[in-house]
Amino acid sequence: MHPRNLARQFAATLAELRETWDVEYWPAGSIPARTAVAPGRSPSEGESPSVSMESGAEPRAAAVTSAPVHLPVAGEMRTQAKQWTPATKLDYLRKRNVGDCQRCGLARSRTKIVFGVGNPEAKIMFVGEAPGADEDRQGEPFVGRAGARLNVWLAELGLSRDEVYIANVLKCRPPANRDPKPDEVEKCSPFLQAQIRAIAPRVIVALGRHAGMLLSRRDDLRLNAMRSATLYYEVDVDAVETRRIPIVVTYHPSYVLRQEGTSDGVEPAERLVMQDLARAVALTNL
Ligand code: SF4
Repeated sequence: MHPRNLARQFAATLAELRETWDVEYWPAGSIPARTAVAPGRSPSEGESPSVSMESGAEPRAAAVTSAPVHLPVAGEMRTQAKQWTPATKLDYLRKRNVGDCQRCGLARSRTKIVFGVGNPEAKIMFVGEAPGADEDRQGEPFVGRAGARLNVWLAELGLSRDEVYIANVLKCRPPANRDPKPDEVEKCSPFLQAQIRAIAPRVIVALGRHAGMLLSRRDDLRLNAMRSATLYYEVDVDAVETRRIPIVVTYHPSYVLRQEGTSDGVEPAERLVMQDLARAVALTNL
C-alpha cells in the first residue's frame, strides 16, 4: 500500500477508535444523542451541541442532520479502545468529553472546570462533593484549607497526592458553595462515573454525605450510618468485567475544620476520619 494511503487509513482508524471510545465510555443515555457536525452551521434551539472538542479549542458548532451519525461498534475497535491506558482514557475524557462543558447552569458562573488530579492508576480514589472558591480559581480539587487538611491525612497514611486520585462529583463550583442540585448531579455525574471506570481503583473514599449518597445510591442513610455500612460501587471495566469497588464514606475535611473547637465531649471527627481512612488503605491491599 502507498504510504499516503496507509497514513489515511491510520487516521481514519484513529478517528473511528475515538468515536468508539465515546460510545464505550459513556453509560447509555448519559450524553445527548450525537449529531453530525456541519462546520459553519450553528445548532438551532433545543439541539445539543456536539461533544466533539479538541484540546484548547473552542467548542465546535454542531448542526443537526436528519439522521444520526453511524458510530462503529465493531469488536475489533472495542478491543483497541480497551487497550488505552487509564491516563489516555482520562486525557480523552477531559479534552473530548468534558471539553468546555455547558451541560448545566454552573457553566455560567464557574471560573475553571475542576476535573481531577492524581495518579490515573491509583488504588485509592477520593471523591468530594463540588469545587469551592479556591478550586474554582485554580482548576484543581481540594486545594485551600480543606485540601491542606486532606494532604495532612494522606501524609499520616504515608501517601502523597501523586499516589491517589482526587475528584469531585460536580466539576464546577455551585455559587456561594450551595448544595448541588439534582439536575446538576444528573448531568455531571457521568463524568465521575467515567473517571472511576478509567481508573478502576481498589477503593473509593467518599468525602461527605453527598459524595457517599451519589456513589452508593443510598439517600436514606445519614453520614454516620454510611460510615458503618458495607457499600459498593459497581463499575463496568471495558465493558467486559463488572467490579464491585468498596466505598468508604467519611467526613469532608471542611466539616472537620468547622467542627474543631466545638466538640466538647464528642469524639473529634478527625479521629473518626483517620479510622475510616486506615480501613480504606487496608482494603487496597486485599
Ligand atoms: S458542573 Fe458538570 S455538567 Fe455542569 S457545566 Fe460543569 S462540567 Fe458540565
